[in-house]
Amino acid sequence: MLRAILSDVHSNLEALEAVLADADRAGPAELLCLGDFVGYGASPNECLERLRPRVAASVAGNHDLAACGRIRVGSFSSYAAQAARWTEGVLTPEHRAWLEALPFEARRGAARLVHASPAEPPAWHYVLSSGEARLEFDAFEEPLCLIGHSHYPGAFRLGPRAGEVAYTREPRVRLDGGCRFLVNAPSVGQPRDGDPRAGYLLWDDEEGWVRHVRVDYDITTARQRILDAGLPPFLADRLQWGE
Ligand code: ZN
Repeated sequence: MLRAILSDVHSNLEALEAVLADADRAGPAELLCLGDFVGYGASPNECLERLRPRVAASVAGNHDLAACGRIRVGSFSSYAAQAARWTEGVLTPEHRAWLEALPFEARRGAARLVHASPAEPPAWHYVLSSGEARLEFDAFEEPLCLIGHSHYPGAFRLGPRAGEVAYTREPRVRLDGGCRFLVNAPSVGQPRDGDPRAGYLLWDDEEGWVRHVRVDYDITTARQRILDAGLPPFLADRLQWGE
């Protein structure tokens, strides 16, 4: 089955529409979301309107729960905290209730889905190094775990021998039998890896691969919406840099 995985949409409607159009051309049987639907961007309700009817499984991100007042924003940057408060003020009650009810983890096919780290989903740890990934592999039993949160795409592979972890940023990863994988999805709505294009994953569990896809989108409009909403201009500007 071919699945599309979207993560860290962050209320960026223009990026989301470009990703959905691109994914629809590939024709996935299911759409999965790894959290952070909202926060930073200016179109939280519009993004949830598009995604909610389509997602087969989703998990909660820290920005989703912050926007519902469920977690404190003390650990957030001032920009993120301002955006969380703004989002809380504009979210419709229906969308808010939906975000609040999201689970911390889910399973789909042979994959575990979690926003940040499988070892401790509500702690929002970043998994950026092979050493950190090695510990995370002990926290799930599935052959594949899909995560978001860092906005920094890449894949960790745990080999069958000696428990060694290899890391790759190659866009296409073969899911070799006998190995296990922890794959970090790119961000749809706020890329931070130096490539400003919107990103998502395709996963084919029959053919055994995960592919990282990037798509051009209307950054000018997404930027302008953030400025028009009165959100911090830095959140608008960073979209152009992809950082
Ligand atoms: Zn995020």
